[in-house]
Amino acid sequence: MEIQSVGIVGAGQMGNGIAHVFALAGYDVTMTDISAENLIKAIALIDRNIERQVTRGKTTAEEKAAAMARIKTTLVLAEIGQSDLIIEAATERETVKQAIFDDLLPHLKPHTILTSNTSSISITRLASRTDRPEKFMGFHFMNPVPIMQLVELIRGIATDKPTYDSCFAVVERLGKTAASAEDFPAFIVNRILMPMINEAVYTLYEGVGSVKSIDESLKLGANHPMGPLELADFIGLDTCLAIMNVLHDGLADTKYRPCPLLTKYVEAGWLGRKTQRGFYDYRGDVPVPTR
Ligand code: NAD
Repeated sequence: MEIQSVGIVGAGQMGNGIAHVFALAGYDVTMTDISAENLIKAIALIDRNIERQVTRGKTTAEEKAAAMARIKTTLVLAEIGQSDLIIEAATERETVKQAIFDDLLPHLKPHTILTSNTSSISITRLASRTDRPEKFMGFHFMNPVPIMQLVELIRGIATDKPTYDSCFAVVERLGKTAASAEDFPAFIVNRILMPMINEAVYTLYEGVGSVKSIDESLKLGANHPMGPLELADFIGLDTCLAIMNVLHDGLADTKYRPCPLLTKYVEAGWLGRKTQRGFYDYRGDVPVPTR
């Protein structure tokens, strides 16, 4: 089935980026949120971000105007029910996501594909509560969506091939690259990335290196564009901890034990860039290591 229209649930960090790339690729987009303020902020942010692409010559003013005209917003969840594809990008809490799917089901067209952008919740479990587990899958974008090239496509145990193929075609039309992942905790990227970040925090916790020496070592010694602690601050330390807990609980292996120092930073409310303090303090002109 060829997808023409997309409904996006959640207008936060991820939802606005997803709406941005779909509208620029020519899809009709309807975005919904429980917060009118977040919908207004998302449209303003998309406008600003596409404008930046126009300034850099990556798109034209005409394409921007056409893309902005393709995005509608609504506070009424049922209004996205007529879309060919739905991407749920609401808050990472299973009860929130379940309630959204429960409320949406009566309003869907028979062929509508349901997907979730979840970073960690089981696709198979989310799908099992719907009337269409074969038309349900994970559509996992990376942050920031307009910049990151990868999309992980995650098959639940019941996902059928036509559903996978339709989503694969969408990723191609977005100009991005799909990586296919099976439905196990944290999928591919976070399964590999988060234990590395957690190990960097253990390296700090055990006094093997300082924040500066750990980040410099990985940048200059392993050719990583960003050090692991700098990257953790960018992702959000609460998110890193939540994903480590999903790995630890879901795979029951002590190698995924979250570092107590990571837990302590989260308890302190030092969550990284979004709270201005994490492994670095961002309140001054330059980031200063906090250890
Ligand atoms: P966010 O907090 O920025 O945005 C969530 C939005 O969902 C908010 O605007 C909130 O008002 C809205 N919302 C909450 N309940 C709702 C409901 N019942 N109906 C409609 N809208 C509702 O979060 P985010 O960072 O955009 O993450 C969204 C999803 O994307 C999560 O599942 C997360 O795991 C996943 N994800 C996040 C990242 C990341 O780096 N932030 C990367 C990949 C995937």
